[in-house]
Amino acid sequence: MTGEDVVVVATTGASVTYHTGGVPRVALHPIDLELDRADRVAVVGQSGSGKSTLLHLLAGLLAPSQGQVTWPGIGPPRNRPGSVAMVFQAPSLVPALNALENVELPLLIEGVPAPQARAQASSAMETLGLTELADRIPEEMSGGQAQRVAVARAIAGRATAILADEPTGQLDHESAELVVTALLAGADHSGAALMIATHDPAVAARMDRQITLVDGRLAAPPTRIRAGS
Ligand code: ADP
Ligand code: MG
Repeated sequence: MTGEDVVVVATTGASVTYHTGGVPRVALHPIDLELDRADRVAVVGQSGSGKSTLLHLLAGLLAPSQGQVTWPGIGPPRNRPGSVAMVFQAPSLVPALNALENVELPLLIEGVPAPQARAQASSAMETLGLTELADRIPEEMSGGQAQRVAVARAIAGRATAILADEPTGQLDHESAELVVTALLAGADHSGAALMIATHDPAVAARMDRQITLVDGRLAAPPTRIRAGS
């Protein structure tokens, strides 16, 4: 790494058009943006404004209809599993596995040797203060605890970017605060960029800057909310 501001993902005129029943609909108009490791960004906008589409594009889960998405230095996420980690709104843990097993699962799938996967998973849990949840299966956790385990899973793979799509959408205020704290701590610990799509102004305010989507377009240039961080 050459510094804190290393670009992890960039878009150049990238747009997304969905075709439903043969009818094209532009969900994201051409967008130019860069996300670097030091970035802590909130994506806000009404339902249907294109927030999820943008995150999926940056995660490499969706190809741009036009333009380009690049991951400088790391290549497309599909070639480097775990390099861009997503956290979703709905609980996404495997019900039959305990927290620690959930966190290590993506590492095992990537081919990380079991003892190393266990060590990385334990370390991610410890970083987020979740060690005491290690043996619990998802149905023994609150929604907020499950989301924090999902954050641990995101950072265990040494992600360079964490993209969270309405990660607190189903949580009460107190649990939401803890999940955002975990996301920020996880991003700091991994040296990863963090981008959160959210409807919650309290969540958005904890990021360093905010971008607003209106009907698939950036409403205004990125604004620094908190200077000097
Ligand atoms: P947001 O996350 O801000 O609610 P989305 O990115 O999910 O917005 O959606 C943006 C627009 O694209 C919406 O009009 C939505 O209906 C449409 N859309 C999203 N996903 C699909 C899809 N898989 N197929 C067709 N249209 C979609
Ligand atoms: Mg969405």
